[in-house]
Amino acid sequence: MSHQHKKRFGQHFLHDQSVLERMTHAIAPQASDVMLEIGPGEGALTDRLIDRVASFTVVEIDNDLIPTLNKRYGNRAHFSIRHQDALTVDYGSIANPLRVVGNLPYNISTPLIFHLLESRHAITDMHFMLQKEVVQRLASEADSEHYGRLSVMAQYYCAIEDLFHIGPEAFDPPPKVDSAVVRLVPYQQLPAAAQNEATFARIVKQSFSMRRKTLRNNLKGWLTAEQIEACGIQPGHRAEVLTVADFVRLSDAYDQESTAHE
Ligand code: SAM
Repeated sequence: MSHQHKKRFGQHFLHDQSVLERMTHAIAPQASDVMLEIGPGEGALTDRLIDRVASFTVVEIDNDLIPTLNKRYGNRAHFSIRHQDALTVDYGSIANPLRVVGNLPYNISTPLIFHLLESRHAITDMHFMLQKEVVQRLASEADSEHYGRLSVMAQYYCAIEDLFHIGPEAFDPPPKVDSAVVRLVPYQQLPAAAQNEATFARIVKQSFSMRRKTLRNNLKGWLTAEQIEACGIQPGHRAEVLTVADFVRLSDAYDQESTAHE
């Protein structure tokens, strides 16, 4: 292989054809789709998708991969390359509706998902290969092992499914961690919407600030035990048993309290 893999860009290229097939099946490309792939690398996933959709854009940061991608796909009118850091792309300006896919560089996957969620109104769905632990945290339900701040923040905006898990041997070079494919479908209408999303994010952060402490302790100075109880939540519980809707009620209670004292 001519390309020198770059660790700083999280380059682990998929070579297991059965994993690529499963991922393609999960994505289920449609002829009318406008699709964007983050981090195409040498095109392992691109190959499977590009000729099955109406428009295909790739976002790739590595200079050295741009000529390869141009050579392989540049003759297609419906293909375009953005030689750019995926964290700086304005996804909402590319197309609406847009489908997003990728075997993501694991070192930037969480900030990237939150950056993408800023354009959620334009995004139909996202299918990503990520580090397995991150997928488990994104998809797990309240009161289960991997549930935490990331689960709550991501599930506020999206329906999330942990689709399947893959070992390191599917990649070249193999990463040190296991991987998983996740589907995120942004809600067009949030099932539980906070009055103020900034408050919601702060309350969630604060509630999980000390994992072993109760809500009463972690929310000291934010909400009293009585106020927590008035939301139908036990102040002696830990944050990890609360659903997204529970956090929304706490957030709204805090906002109402603050407004009342203005
Ligand atoms: N899709 C290919 C595959 O499955 O074989 C490559 C996946 S590899 C895990 C991640 C890809 O993302 C690499 O091509 C890497 O150069 C690219 N990448 C890393 N950081 C990036 C960034 N900030 N913006 C865009 N692409 C990035």
